[in-house]
Amino acid sequence: MPPAGRDATVAVARCDDYTPEKVDAAVRRAIELIGGIGRFVAQNESVLLKPNLLQGQEPEKCVTTHPAVVAAVARILTEHGCRVVIGDSPGAGIVYSEANLRRAYSRSEFAAAADETGAALNYDTGSKVVAYPEGEVMKQFSIITPAVEADAIVVVSKVKTHMWTRMTGAAKNLFGIIPGLEKPVYHFRFQDEYAFGKMLVDLNECMKPRLQVVDAVVGMEGDGPQSGSPRTIGVILAGSDYAAVDTVLARLIGMDPLEIGSTKSAVERGLLDPEAVRTVGDDPAAFTVPDFKKPSTYAGGRTGLWRRVVQAVVRRFGRTYAPRPGVIASSCIGCRKCERICPVHAITVAEGRAAIDLSRCIRCYCCHEMCTEHAIALSRSLSGRLLARLLG
Ligand code: SF4
Ligand code: SF4
Repeated sequence: MPPAGRDATVAVARCDDYTPEKVDAAVRRAIELIGGIGRFVAQNESVLLKPNLLQGQEPEKCVTTHPAVVAAVARILTEHGCRVVIGDSPGAGIVYSEANLRRAYSRSEFAAAADETGAALNYDTGSKVVAYPEGEVMKQFSIITPAVEADAIVVVSKVKTHMWTRMTGAAKNLFGIIPGLEKPVYHFRFQDEYAFGKMLVDLNECMKPRLQVVDAVVGMEGDGPQSGSPRTIGVILAGSDYAAVDTVLARLIGMDPLEIGSTKSAVERGLLDPEAVRTVGDDPAAFTVPDFKKPSTYAGGRTGLWRRVVQAVVRRFGRTYAPRPGVIASSCIGCRKCERICPVHAITVAEGRAAIDLSRCIRCYCCHEMCTEHAIALSRSLSGRLLARLLG
C-alpha cells in the first residue's frame, strides 16, 4: 500500500520519437491514464510549467526537456482553460537575467513551444522566501517568483544521469526554481548526495507540484546532465508523486531507486514505499535499458553485505574515490561559468583559462555540469582507480 494520502501510480506511454503528433498523443494518453488533466488543475488556474532548461541547449543535445513535450503539456493545460507560464531558473553558473532567459528559451525552442500553444514565457527574475517549518533540513527556501505566484506547478522533466545526484528526473528538476546564483550555496551546505536528496524532498514537499510529466523518449546516459550521450528509452511518464515517478525512472535506466538520494530520503520519511509503486499503461519492462551507461560516480547495483561494504568505503574514502575535475586547456574559452558556480571558490580564470585548486574541491561537479565547451574532464587519481577497481 502507498503511504496515506499519496498516489504512487505512474503512467507509462510508448513514444518512439519526437514527432509532434506522436508526442502529443503519448502525453495525452499518459495524463488520461492517471485520471485526466482535470484531476490536477482547475479551469482558470495559473500554472507554472517547469521544464528542464539548464542553460538552454538545442533539443537534439538532449540536455533540456524536448520542446515537443513542453508544447504538448502546455497545449493540454491551455485547452483546459489554464493560464500557462513556462519558467525555470537556468543552471547555477548562469546569472538569472532576462537576456540569459531569452537566449535559453530560444536555443531550447521553448520560445517556439510558447508561441504555438499560447503559453507565456517567464521573464520575472525576482524571488520570494517561502517558509517551510516542517522541513527536515530546510525551514525556508528562496524561490523564483513565478513558482510562488502560480496556483499550481506542473513539472516537465527530462531523464538524465547526473554526476552528483546519480539521476535527474522529477525530484531534482524542481531544484531549478531556486534562483541561479543561489544554487551553489545548497551544494556547499549539502555536500553529499543523500544530504542533497533530503533537501530536494523538503523542496518538493514544500512546493507540492501537482503533476509530473517526464520526457523519457530519449534520455541522457553517461556523465550527465550536460556531457553525457543521448540514449533512446521510448516512453513518456506521468504521475502525481515525484518519488514514485523517480522510482519507475530509476528502474527504467537500470539503477536502484534507493541509490538516488531524494528517493531514499522519501522512503526514510514514510513518503514512499517502492514496492507499492504501480504502473498503468504500457509495461515498463518493454522499455527498460539495463545497460544504460551510469555516471562515473555511480556505485550502485550491488546488494547485501557487499553493497554495505561499498557504501562504507565510498563514505570513508569519498574524496579519493570520487573522480576529480580537471580543465582541458585547449577547450576552455575562459567564459567563467565554472568560476561563478563553484560553491567553494576552487576555480579561478586567468588569461582566458580556468584552473582548479583540488585541495578545496568538494567534488560537487557543478563545473562539469555547467561547462558547455566540455572543457572540464573527470578522472580518478591512481588510488581512486585502484579503489574503483576494487569496488567495481
Ligand atoms: S572550463 Fe568551461 S566553464 Fe570554465 S571557463 Fe573554461 S569554458 Fe568556461
Ligand atoms: S571545482 Fe570542485 S567544488 Fe568547484 S564546482 Fe568543480 S567539482 Fe564543484
